[in-house]
Amino acid sequence: MDTTNYEACPECDLLLKSAQPKIGENVHCSRCGLLLSRPRKKSVERTFALSIAGFILFFPANFLPMVGITVLGNANTGLLMSGVITLYNDGMVAVAIVVFLASILFPLVHLSLSLLISGHLYFNYSNRYLVGWMRWMHRLDEWVMLEVYMLGIIVACVKLMALSPVKFGWGLYAFIALIIITTLLTSGLDSKLFWERIEHLSKENNYAR
Ligand SMILES: [Zn+2]
Repeated sequence: MDTTNYEACPECDLLLKSAQPKIGENVHCSRCGLLLSRPRKKSVERTFALSIAGFILFFPANFLPMVGITVLGNANTGLLMSGVITLYNDGMVAVAIVVFLASILFPLVHLSLSLLISGHLYFNYSNRYLVGWMRWMHRLDEWVMLEVYMLGIIVACVKLMALSPVKFGWGLYAFIALIIITTLLTSGLDSKLFWERIEHLSKENNYAR
């Protein structure tokens, strides 16, 4: 009997033989090129450590001033949230909501989920919600857009620099570090391994799916 496992490409449904790639190898779909699997070294440990770091950085990135400017003797500081409030007050409510979701709320939820999931896997704790958390984290992948907001900040800073000297605050440095950590987090997460570990834990505990 043929014991080869097959899996369908999630993007184009092409039936593929399950590959067992080595650490560092990428497996792409031969038809549409979708990245199917990319085993990473110590993915659970790495994700857990990066999630903790990201979670800690989230707070200074949001609550410490990013930039400080002095216009006509008035000192102003800009927080991540003040960008959202300015957009809102200028009548750009939809943009304000999108920026708030993509740069504040979704990154926080995404970080919390990856912390919860990798923490459970790291300590081998099972939880009936692991599958649901994992699904939500994947859904949020496309919605975490810190880099886009960063671009907005750079543009705003360049404009402000023309008006007055701009002082960069700790919030900005924390935000940049947060972007780097989120990028490392998403690129280092071996979702195939995570799913396997979750399945293994669920089987041990006989959770009904
Ligand atoms: Zn495909």
